[in-house]
Amino acid sequence: MKLPHCSRCNYFFKWRELLIGFGQRKCPECGAYQYITAQKRRQGMWIGPAAALGTVVIVQLVDPPFSVLWPFAVLVVILAILVNPFFLEFTEKEEPLF
Ligand SMILES: [Zn+2]
Repeated sequence: MKLPHCSRCNYFFKWRELLIGFGQRKCPECGAYQYITAQKRRQGMWIGPAAALGTVVIVQLVDPPFSVLWPFAVLVVILAILVNPFFLEFTEKEEPLF
């Protein structure tokens, strides 16, 4: 897995630069605004419902106690935020979603 780069100057973003914020990012090297590609945004739209469905299935099958379920859910959300920058891809122009 590698981090996305600026579509204008090929500057590779640092992980911490992508950790906070949504949507457009400003390249620290050339100052160009970078937008997440429509393809990656469409892929991202499926993650929430898929995670919810997966959680419902696991809870039905395993029936974990509440004291285990919530810390696990918090851990999954934190991990998702931490690995999210590796799944981004930038373009110089904002693309329509559909
Ligand atoms: Zn740049």
